Amino acid sequence: MTQTNWSLVVHGGSGVIDRADLTPEQDRAYRGVLAQAAEAGAAVLRAGGAALDAVEAAIHVLEDDPLFNAGRGAVFTAEGCNELDAAIMDGATLEAGAVAGVTHVRNPISAARKVMERSPHVLLIGRGADAFAEAQGLTPVDSSYFFVETRWRALETQLRREGRPVPQRPAGADRDERHAALAHDEGKRGTVGCVARDSRGHVAAGTSTGGVTAKSWGRVGDSPLIGAGTYASDASAAISGTGEGEYFIRLSVARAIAALVELKGLGLQAAVDQVVQTELTGLGGVGGVIAVAPDGQTAWGFNTSGMYRARLASDQPLEVAIYKDEP
Ligand code: ASP
Repeated sequence: MTQTNWSLVVHGGSGVIDRADLTPEQDRAYRGVLAQAAEAGAAVLRAGGAALDAVEAAIHVLEDDPLFNAGRGAVFTAEGCNELDAAIMDGATLEAGAVAGVTHVRNPISAARKVMERSPHVLLIGRGADAFAEAQGLTPVDSSYFFVETRWRALETQLRREGRPVPQRPAGADRDERHAALAHDEGKRGTVGCVARDSRGHVAAGTSTGGVTAKSWGRVGDSPLIGAGTYASDASAAISGTGEGEYFIRLSVARAIAALVELKGLGLQAAVDQVVQTELTGLGGVGGVIAVAPDGQTAWGFNTSGMYRARLASDQPLEVAIYKDEP
């Protein structure tokens, strides 16, 4: 059993990410931001901070970066908007908070945390969730904040492929920067997440996403659903997922992994492998997860060609990986 004081894992989404798909510059850019996110979370844990704070800090870095489908880099809906989902869960108390379909929150993970800490509810959606976040002091951003050219082009491509009309380009959409231009289209989707175990042995999980390119009708995926894309319990593990949300919901992926650890006594990696490689793959779904246990063990698993990921612990150096052939 690993004996660590703290450990942390982040992911930046799974999907079609082959070595041949990324230029060396993109590869470097993605690894750089993953490292930065992991270090932001680690700084909290190193200072003796709580797993929950580490998760939020790491996810802020990923949400603020246009390379990832969450926060600033969120994908577009079929109507040309950005509707963001996020959830956070505290393994020590089993308290959880989530938002779905928010359109003006810069950091949905913080809105999820406010739901957990300042409301009697677990999940708020749409306009109400936006209003709640603002009332809690989270300054709203204009929808143009989320415009990233590569995401817009991915929407156009997807809608043309489906034979659906392409909406008008949003106003204020002329801003582009070199870094944002490096965003890679992992095949419609992507998500960011973090799981952490602090020096008191508590675990926490958080997940944030823009969902799926060209989503319609208020579609919500697994990320903000406790037990599907996000789960944490000190009795088992903290898990954050990324992949085809509909499959993650049907399999209760995050809770299923926790249950195998808690009720069947499986090791963390074995539980991750069973749910991702056997159950998810068996049902025809694609994606991956990251996980951490209260004893400090970490695990990840995915059945896609890549998953942006990084981990480090008080006794383990930073490890950053993207492709399947990396350890
Ligand atoms: N799980 C996310 C969703 O279905 C997307 C992803 O992680 O790729 O909304």
